[in-house]
Amino acid sequence: MNVEEGVALARYTTLGTGGQARAFARPESEREVDELLHWAAERSLSVAVIGLGSNLLAADDGVDALVLKLGGELAAVEAEENLLRVGGGTANAVALHRARAAGLGGFEFACAIPGTIGGGVWMNGGAYGGDFAGVLERALVATADGSGWLTPTGLGLSYRHSELQHGQVVLRAELRLRPRPPEEIKAEVRELNARRKAAQPTNRRTFGSVFKNPDHELSSGRMLEACGLKGHRIGGAQISPKHANFIENADGATTADALALMAEARRRAHEQFGVRLEHEVEFLGPIELPDL
Ligand SMILES: Cc1cc2nc3c(=O)[nH]c(=O)nc-3n(C[C@H](O)[C@H](O)[C@H](O)COP(=O)(O)OP(=O)(O)OC[C@H]3O[C@@H](n4cnc5c(N)ncnc54)[C@H](O)[C@@H]3O)c2cc1C
Repeated sequence: MNVEEGVALARYTTLGTGGQARAFARPESEREVDELLHWAAERSLSVAVIGLGSNLLAADDGVDALVLKLGGELAAVEAEENLLRVGGGTANAVALHRARAAGLGGFEFACAIPGTIGGGVWMNGGAYGGDFAGVLERALVATADGSGWLTPTGLGLSYRHSELQHGQVVLRAELRLRPRPPEEIKAEVRELNARRKAAQPTNRRTFGSVFKNPDHELSSGRMLEACGLKGHRIGGAQISPKHANFIENADGATTADALALMAEARRRAHEQFGVRLEHEVEFLGPIELPDL
């Protein structure tokens, strides 16, 4: 069990921001996760998992926790009949590739989500009408008190939300897919990727959608665009000129820069539309947005 100190989380987030983790480890098996959870519990240290950091803002001052990055057998994938067995640390792209090779469809929506299975379960990731809740049979979740399989209902999955808390580790998952010719899967993925590229800043450092879509005729992106925020910049972070619900690391951004932009965007959306935007991006460490 190798626990490192002083690991900069900026290396592990797609925005490229964040301070150091108090402790950092890369478990490759259920046994190693179990040992690490006990190691942290003995020290009263909280535990958080980082996937591909594609939906994450980590505090600039660092994160007082043991941060785990799953690898080895916890990032594997295998197909058996209509079931895709995946690790919590398996990249969606790898799982999708395996599903296609096995002629299993239903996970195509995940081509748009540059994260891992664990991150997808955590926030019920979704795109183009599909989401994890729609394909997830069950997930194996570990805590310091033991592990158990949870269904989507047990995980409390709803729109971009689960009831999972830090300290719970998604070790594995089973996705229930359906037979589909690989050529059809490939064609759909190509079309979805083209749609994505036309609408979003896919060649910039971002963390995906900043805010969830509100219960309103306008999406968050359209609302922030109407507030005149496209291209608005604070420090090294800017609201994407291509899609206003994305924040880009334009040049040496910090998490504080991104948060200042988020606070300004929420303030303006509230002022102009009376809507309280809720953030979709997850926070790691002592991070808060000011009240409206
Ligand atoms: C360009 C771009 C486009 C995107 N488009 C979409 C989209 O269309 N739809 C969408 O839903 N999302 C989208 N996202 C956001 C992001 O890719 C998803 O939320 C993804 O599911 C996050 O996965 P991750 O592994 O990167 O998680 P991280 O960002 O690393 O972590 C997110 C949360 O999940 C927790 N977590 C991660 N792994 C585990 C685990 N094994 N066990 C327990 N907790 C875990 C973390 O602690 C954290 O709280 C996009 C992001 C980018 C950069």
